[in-house]
Amino acid sequence: MSKQYNQPLSGNDMPRFGGIASLFRLPTQATAEGLDVALLGVPLDIGTSNRVGTRYGPRQIRSESVLVRPYGMYTGAAPFDSFQVADIGDVPLNAYNLLKSIDIIEAHYNEVLQHDVIPVSMGGDHTIALPILRAVAAKHGPVALIHVDAHADINDEMFGEKITHGTIFRRAIEENLLQPRKMFQIGLRATGYSAEDFEWSRQQGAQVVPAEECWHKSLAPLMDTIRLKIGSETPVYLSFDIDGLDPSVAPGTGTPEPGGLTGSQGLEIIRGCFGLNLVGCDLVEVSPPYDTTGNTALLAANLIFEMLCSLPACKRR
Ligand code: MN
Ligand code: MN
Repeated sequence: MSKQYNQPLSGNDMPRFGGIASLFRLPTQATAEGLDVALLGVPLDIGTSNRVGTRYGPRQIRSESVLVRPYGMYTGAAPFDSFQVADIGDVPLNAYNLLKSIDIIEAHYNEVLQHDVIPVSMGGDHTIALPILRAVAAKHGPVALIHVDAHADINDEMFGEKITHGTIFRRAIEENLLQPRKMFQIGLRATGYSAEDFEWSRQQGAQVVPAEECWHKSLAPLMDTIRLKIGSETPVYLSFDIDGLDPSVAPGTGTPEPGGLTGSQGLEIIRGCFGLNLVGCDLVEVSPPYDTTGNTALLAANLIFEMLCSLPACKRR
């Protein structure tokens, strides 16, 4: 008998606007025990430099995720026939203290990763990626990184602080959590503190793909190249800052920058990760107070669904 996996509650069994607001209408559970994929929220917004509100991100993404159905209609992907998935809730962080929250998040992910599970996380601001990467690297060693963002997030410090949503990937490289020669930053653009802001990444060996190099074309060939460079064995982390996409499709975020990627390019990047050894993913920086239509959170829910579809060995129908 084939294994029975958790299934999203169908819109034909309970209206989509009813029921418990878990991600993708999946069952919830308190720990990652027995799961292949753990979905969890990290409702942090005290690491941001501009507009706040990402603390409401996980709840709003869950709310909008009711419209996501179980099968990818173009890819044929069937994540809920491939993996045992559940929503394991939110990290109980300390909204009064960023550094304590970072430690709480790291300890929480260390606990989650005691299980043989892939964490797929909803932010929260991008600061959450640092403690998550600490836990992921403690389990898997330094990982390759696919990073979608308008910003490089490699400042040495901001307002004198070493840990903010704009410093995380410099810290991650310094802490040997990443393989910088297998690090790809896609969608970077707009204005900087200096004209050399992205150079530190390149000096570490990372490949920076500015948004301008993505305009008006498919990103499938870029992803083919990235997959070849990373290889199929290396553990990979995917960190997707929603502000990598253009504010016209994702206005609900704290540091929007014009000239960003399209929604379909976002899908191409995530679909292009299929075949890699993804060991964790996040979708960060959704700020519901600036998401007046709910469409940013809806897009985020769909991007997270695509992440599930790109996890190793996800079946295709
Ligand atoms: Mn970011
Ligand atoms: Mn950003």
